[in-house]
Amino acid sequence: MNSFDYVIVGGGSAGCTLAGRLSEDPDVTVCLLEAGPKDDSFLINVPAGSAALMPKPGKLNWGFETVPQKGLNGRCGYQPRGKTLGGSSSINAMIYIRGHKSDYDNWVAMGAKGWGWDDVLPYFKKSENREAGATKLRGQNLRGKGGPLNVANLQSPNPTAEYYLDACDQIQLPKTKDFNGSQFEGTGRYEVTQKEGQRFSAAKAYLTPNLDRPNLTVITDATTTKVNVKDGRAIGVQCHTGGKDQTINAIREVILCGGAFGSPQTLLLSGIGDKDELAKHGIACVHHLPGVGENLHDHIDYIISYKSKNTDTLGYSLVGIYKAIKAVFEYRKNKTGIFTSNFAEVGGFYKSSPDIEVPDLQTHFVVGVVDDHARKSHWGHGYSCHVCVLRPTSRGSLKLASADPFAAPLIDPAFLENEADMEVLLKGVKLADQIMKAPAFDPIKGKRLYSQDNMSDDEWREEIRNRADTVYHPVGTCKMGVDKMAVVDPELKVHGLKGLRVVDASIMPQLNSGNTNAPTIMIAEKAADMIKSARK
Ligand SMILES: Cc1cc2nc3c(=O)[nH]c(=O)nc-3n(C[C@H](O)[C@H](O)[C@H](O)COP(=O)(O)OP(=O)(O)OC[C@H]3O[C@@H](n4cnc5c(N)ncnc54)[C@H](O)[C@@H]3O)c2cc1C
Repeated sequence: MNSFDYVIVGGGSAGCTLAGRLSEDPDVTVCLLEAGPKDDSFLINVPAGSAALMPKPGKLNWGFETVPQKGLNGRCGYQPRGKTLGGSSSINAMIYIRGHKSDYDNWVAMGAKGWGWDDVLPYFKKSENREAGATKLRGQNLRGKGGPLNVANLQSPNPTAEYYLDACDQIQLPKTKDFNGSQFEGTGRYEVTQKEGQRFSAAKAYLTPNLDRPNLTVITDATTTKVNVKDGRAIGVQCHTGGKDQTINAIREVILCGGAFGSPQTLLLSGIGDKDELAKHGIACVHHLPGVGENLHDHIDYIISYKSKNTDTLGYSLVGIYKAIKAVFEYRKNKTGIFTSNFAEVGGFYKSSPDIEVPDLQTHFVVGVVDDHARKSHWGHGYSCHVCVLRPTSRGSLKLASADPFAAPLIDPAFLENEADMEVLLKGVKLADQIMKAPAFDPIKGKRLYSQDNMSDDEWREEIRNRADTVYHPVGTCKMGVDKMAVVDPELKVHGLKGLRVVDASIMPQLNSGNTNAPTIMIAEKAADMIKSARK
């Protein structure tokens, strides 16, 4: 009962994808262990529910904090992460972005052989069911049809997003019809992982339809505390569930899919990591691997917000409350209306300077006021523009706070520690400022929050250090590669051990230029093929 061919730890974007794909083969048994509960909350299904799930820790959100960040004037950042089936894809903003093709070619240059754009494109396509159909480049269709992950246009685009599109036009930024097609750079509408107005998480795509497979066991509320290693091979895990500790045996492999924070934490708790770090917590070193938890990086982001009398946006006002009540009925009846919004409806990829080749800035225009991850609310309506640095150079780490598997780890993304990141963000903030000041917004523009007109560069730098934070894309803590700080090889096997892989956002040697859900699902699709062919 407690032995399975594959034991998958973490039922997030990668874990669900892998569980769905590996259990396609009826001859193998798969067990998926997820620390959080089932994903049956309406707050997950209704897209706008993320506004309630994301701001605070709870049953469905780990809600981590970073250690004080030098680059953020000593502030601690906030790091929401999904804690349920679907993981962060059950609480995220649902934007479907792959990144730029050079991201993956750069991975190859960093030692990730076999992960170039031409290698990964088939897996992006395999995972995808794009409702809008094909986008062709030189005769090749770049988009997928018939895959498990539904990718849709928003059911009820918010009219406020049009002001952003017009503003970008007015300041002559390029436009694109498909960020994941022939043109990455420019302004456009985001496509979303939704189906018929409902969130389409990795769990909905890969797990829910397959739950009746006799060879697939899913255990929720089950926290893995340790990987058991014998003679250099992972033989199973220790798991805390139903108030008891259990041993789950892996006949073939243990596959860690706990995400950029969960996977390195589990490795360290198992004695796999830097021996001196492990010794600090009295953990016996099973395998010295200094890269575990290092190379943490994330998209650093700043938000400009304006109040507005325009009540099309989601906001706290008498009109807003009346509209929200009407929207409940509309949503229940038709699955349309403002509750289908992912809030960050439009945006773009831009260059901080004309002489660079690949856009290094991304904006997310939000049809509401976003202040401190929506942890501070404002009476009234408004709109906001996020801008983030796509390829930050600062690198931090994840370390254990203690040997207690239930203690939150020490998360240090080292935001803005490299001046180079600050200079790119400063240019991005000035671009977002220009967009937000374009005449297109004049009819709806109200008071601006925090920053003011005509700030000097030094005033902007200080403002950024006082308010910037993550846009929720931590990666890199179990990086793939062949150098001495790499944790997994290009087949995602943990260096120096047998029967153990890591498959999730933590293996990215470097962030992709954009949102990270689709790339994580791609990683798991490719890993599933590798694992299946290794068995053959
Ligand atoms: C608020 C928010 C908004 C975002 N918006 C977008 C967006 O719009 N588009 C986009 O592309 N990306 C977005 N992202 C990022 C994207 O969702 C993540 O990069 C992606 O889901 C990561 O997948 P993963 O499999 O690596 O980790 P996760 O999906 O986080 O999954 C890890 C899972 O492992 C479980 N776990 C961890 N430790 C253990 C343990 N010890 N035992 C058992 N289970 C464990 C966790 O509970 C979790 O379910 C967003 C993320 C957040 C948090």
